[in-house]
Amino acid sequence: MSTPLPAATSLTYGQYSGWDCVWCGKRLTTGAVSTGRAQGSSGAHDLSIEVWACPTCAYINGLTDTPPLPGGTT
Ligand SMILES: [Zn+2]
Repeated sequence: MSTPLPAATSLTYGQYSGWDCVWCGKRLTTGAVSTGRAQGSSGAHDLSIEVWACPTCAYINGLTDTPPLPGGTT
C-alpha cells in the first residue's frame, strides 16, 4: 500500500522545508526516509522538492522494511 505524495503546492512550510513528515505532518526527528520529489509548479517555476516521511509512515507505505521503534517518537 502506498499513499501518493501530495502536490508540492499543497505542502505546509514545514513539509516543504523537510522538517515535517509529508504524510502525517509530524515533526521529523530521527529515521526520516526520503519519499522522492513532490511535484508542482507555479507558472514557469518548478517547485518540485524532495520530501521526507517519518519512520512510521515510511513503513506503512513500504519505503522501508524496518518497523519503527516502539516509543521512538514523542
Ligand atoms: Zn508520518
